[in-house]
Amino acid sequence: MDFDMLGLAPRLVNVLKEQGITDPTPIQTQAIPHAMNGRDVMGLAQTGSGKTAAFGLPMIHALLKAGVKPNPKTTRGLILAPTRELAKQISDNLTAYTKGSHLKVALVVGGAGIVAQTKRLAGGVDLLVATPGRLIDLLDRRAVRLDETIYLVLDEADQMLDMGFIHALRRIAPLLAKERQTMMFSATMPKLMSELAGTYLTDAVRVQVNPPGQAVKKINQSVHFVAQAAKTDLLIELLDKHRDELAIVFGRTKHGCEKLYKVLEKKGFAAASIHGNKSQGQRQRALDAFKAGKTRVLVATDVAARGLDIPDVRFVYNYDLPNVAENYVHRIGRTARAGADGSAVALVAPDEMIELQDIEKAMKDTIPVASGRPWEVQPGQKKRPNGGGGGGRRGGGGGQRSGAPRAAGKPAGGQGKPAGRRRGGGGGRARSQSAA
Ligand code: AMP
Repeated sequence: MDFDMLGLAPRLVNVLKEQGITDPTPIQTQAIPHAMNGRDVMGLAQTGSGKTAAFGLPMIHALLKAGVKPNPKTTRGLILAPTRELAKQISDNLTAYTKGSHLKVALVVGGAGIVAQTKRLAGGVDLLVATPGRLIDLLDRRAVRLDETIYLVLDEADQMLDMGFIHALRRIAPLLAKERQTMMFSATMPKLMSELAGTYLTDAVRVQVNPPGQAVKKINQSVHFVAQAAKTDLLIELLDKHRDELAIVFGRTKHGCEKLYKVLEKKGFAAASIHGNKSQGQRQRALDAFKAGKTRVLVATDVAARGLDIPDVRFVYNYDLPNVAENYVHRIGRTARAGADGSAVALVAPDEMIELQDIEKAMKDTIPVASGRPWEVQPGQKKRPNGGGGGGRRGGGGGQRSGAPRAAGKPAGGQGKPAGRRRGGGGGRARSQSAA
């Protein structure tokens, strides 16, 4: 099977060939023929599967064939992505696929000058890649209108669900052309996602490369049961064994990630961090340095790391477990790309047991234990509050307590007790503080 056989214009096939893209990936083989027939598509696939080309090529093919120039301040196709980095990646890919044609691809994301973006849209574009917030800004300023937009793509849609995306989509969708083709791509299919698909897709074909909620087979997963205060030391020990390999460390809060990154840097690791408190320029530079192998450890929150196509990541560390089980699958999907081996290591403190149980339930599998023993779940124990606000109640601070003995290996004891009781038993600490 090659791209000719999928019905793409020979000219487009040649452009792909020049870029070394000759054999369609499974998601492309499945999605492209339906998309070329104008069907709505619900694709279950992760970044790295080739999904950008899966939705991009049929649109490009149709736009080339139609040969219609876009009107000023309009776009023929709109691709919405959850993060600026992902939007840029999509726009870069689409720009490469449209090389040598008259098609115009534009990128509008927050953190970049809105004036230049307004100018770019003034003459009209064929494909617009956007993050929802900036698009709404530009719509409000009447820099662009969407009534001639006949293709809509929602990429990494499941990741947009927890980011106020539904609200944005409710505003954007009614502005689009009534007759349109919609494609939605997602790595997982939570219930809310099915509802969204029901609202925005019509008679969609469902295509899928990995069963939802199941991690890619090549990833070696393991879990260390370790006290929160001992996580940083353990992480350093683990990172130290593979200093030459690329590793992504996921933390829960912006603040925690920043602290952890600083600790790692002090310990001599070539590290960088990306999270919502960093400027767009800082995020892109950190990412570029990591992709180039100049930095080896990237500490990131979910928000900044979603959907990124970074080849050669050998290790994913879940320093903090994600609040939403599906995000675990996303995170570990950053490794073992393109058939390579990868390891996903989770560090689990007593108050993350519910998160771990949810993850194992979603994956229908248990993660092998590398050290420690599962903490006992306390009656009434709940998930930790979502760290998305960046409050940084916890995080990389563990490294400051390097003298503390590691609790890995100890079964559930005092560590596992609810915060209230722990505090009750913490008189010793209070005394020692007042003594100091
Ligand atoms: P994506 O999943 O869309 O982020 O794509 C991941 C990477 O694979 C991108 O760098 C694409 O350029 C590349 N790619 C997409 N389709 C193919 C293909 N059929 N053969 C080889 N590489 C591809």
